[in-house]
Amino acid sequence: MSEIYLDHNATTPALPQAVEAACKSMASGFGNPSSTHTTGLRAKAQLDEARQRAKRLIGAGEGQVVFTSGATEGIQIAVLSALAELRLRRFAPNPPGSLLLYGATEHKAVSEALKHWNQFLGLGCRVVAIPVDGNGRHDLDFLKKHAADAAMICTMAVNNETGAISDLAGIEKTLLDSASQALWLVDAVQALGKIKLDLANTRIDYATFSGHKLYAPKGIGMLYARAGAPYTPLTVGGGQEFALRSGTENTAGIAALNAVMALMENKDPVFHGHDTLHGFRKRLVAALSAAFPEIVFNSPLDFSVPTTLNFSVPGIGSKELLNLFDSAGIRVSSGSACSSSSSAPSYVLQAMKIRDDYASSAIRMSFGPATTENEITEAVARIALCAEATRQAGGSTDVLASIQDGLLRLESDGVCCWVLTDAAARRCVIIDPVNELNDRLARYVHLHGLQLTAVLVTDLHSPAAEARDALTALLSVQTSGLSDARTDAHGWPLTGTSVQQGETLAFGDQVLACLRASDNARIFLAGKAIAEKLNPEQVQYAFMGKTASTLADKPAVLEMLAATCNQHTILCPGDAQTMLFTTLAAERAVQAPAGNIVNDIHIHAETIRNLLHDRPDTLLVDVREAYEHSFLDAELFDAPVLNVPLAQLASRAGEWLLHTDTPLIFFCRSGARSDAATRCMRRLGYQQVWSCAGGLT
Ligand code: PLP
Repeated sequence: MSEIYLDHNATTPALPQAVEAACKSMASGFGNPSSTHTTGLRAKAQLDEARQRAKRLIGAGEGQVVFTSGATEGIQIAVLSALAELRLRRFAPNPPGSLLLYGATEHKAVSEALKHWNQFLGLGCRVVAIPVDGNGRHDLDFLKKHAADAAMICTMAVNNETGAISDLAGIEKTLLDSASQALWLVDAVQALGKIKLDLANTRIDYATFSGHKLYAPKGIGMLYARAGAPYTPLTVGGGQEFALRSGTENTAGIAALNAVMALMENKDPVFHGHDTLHGFRKRLVAALSAAFPEIVFNSPLDFSVPTTLNFSVPGIGSKELLNLFDSAGIRVSSGSACSSSSSAPSYVLQAMKIRDDYASSAIRMSFGPATTENEITEAVARIALCAEATRQAGGSTDVLASIQDGLLRLESDGVCCWVLTDAAARRCVIIDPVNELNDRLARYVHLHGLQLTAVLVTDLHSPAAEARDALTALLSVQTSGLSDARTDAHGWPLTGTSVQQGETLAFGDQVLACLRASDNARIFLAGKAIAEKLNPEQVQYAFMGKTASTLADKPAVLEMLAATCNQHTILCPGDAQTMLFTTLAAERAVQAPAGNIVNDIHIHAETIRNLLHDRPDTLLVDVREAYEHSFLDAELFDAPVLNVPLAQLASRAGEWLLHTDTPLIFFCRSGARSDAATRCMRRLGYQQVWSCAGGLT
């Protein structure tokens, strides 16, 4: 499936003109601009041309434009320059203030640079965030109050996560009105090519730019310094860039950036105008709103560049949304690219007082001024397909939106919760609930009209005990499904029938049993009942909680399991870090000197094709969610593919373990989920199992 790249605020593809210019620079314009022979002079002429064009484009006037490696470097130079000046002048008459102010939604490069250089130079200044309003705009009253005491003020022109445009004119007026001596840095990375800049006609002292955010390659950027603004170089040596930034210039990068700037300057149709870009955004907004009627836009559409959308879909996490879009070939990001691996709420959205659940489930969709009409049309069509895939998966990306017969493993912040459902009997049991999942769990029970046989807690010292109280409280409000039988602190009903292994509890055509692992820990068993009894051969699952990770040190528990379970009973742990699940046989083998964990778990696509040829019985398993799987290219492996989301692996592992000579291959988007599945099956003694290397990239 072709790629629709809508993550331009993270980085942009290099335009063909930029690639061509860079190649030409490397091939024929390769001279060192400092050399005095003709080859060097040619390179120097290209450098000068690029600098002059940059100056015209940003309205630099008499100011300097220094080529840097990117915006992060430009920010360091600006901050170092301002703080070095402060160090010189702080004991002089009429010294500048001592506050270092930055917008609460600045890129981390700014706030971290302020803290770093402040500490490095031993200045002891207070580094203070300027609050922003719901539109991401700086609080000018706050600024008015503090501007006179500030030595430096950093306010970005356009925010990278939301596209919010700062009120630079308002900030300037506030600085002038308060006669602030503060040096003013504007991070203009996301503004170039999107809003008009005329820097020399402003009070701005420094502005930073980055090539890779505007169709040039990574590793090239620019720093503007107002004529007369204090300047301390970060690098010294050969005296390049007027001794403002020593080091041989990145001439290929500069040539590429120059090519892009030439297109902008010449108003080349490759860059669309304001109206067209607004039209593109309108189409995307309409498509997203039709696909996800509950969508909430976190970016202020009236106060932001048209190329950035930031939204949340209540009830769908950003990871799930990102996976959904990605499987449809649409590349977006959750929050900013730098922080998209963490699930913490975006600090930018938090600063705008966006609700925490929206701030932690936000998606950023960003295009660029050179995005084509066709790309938008295709994106709109694919967004509709995403909605369709979600509908087919039960109206939601949440696995709990449809009834899940069998065992489901849910995970939140490193801990596991297990849900065992008997769809035919409309019953379920929840083992070790987790606070963060409680709303979803309550909805699951409520939505599908399930009878909740029990909410069990393996370890009374775990947060699950508290989560259990919260969940049962939630459920008694939502449904009358929870039986009002009295239970002990583990959630085990006090009215069970006494049979062979102690207390058991009927659950559809299955039965649950409770084992005592210690004073505060229980192990719960589940399996098919024969005459209301749970014989070891019938035990399918053992929910162990924390006990699973310390099995090796607990011979008595191992012995108890050996007496009550069978070798293939799936042992379900409470933590999500060590393993997905295991078996008694596997634990014994792992503890034996020649454990059965084999190092190389990866297999490459080419080898998979060969294997499928030699062993047509190979099982190919897509461990992504159903809505992601629905986009799978049927011709990818030209073989049938099974879809077993990772959360349901425990339900299927038992049947695969009966045929361990069948090659088994897991795959997913990035390889993370298939790696986890493979490691788990290897631990269970399945040797012929692999994870598709690098996922579906
Ligand atoms: N400032 C903003 C607003 C950005 O979006 C970025 C890039 O993520 C940077 C600074 C850092 O730019 P660079 O990657 O060129 O160092």
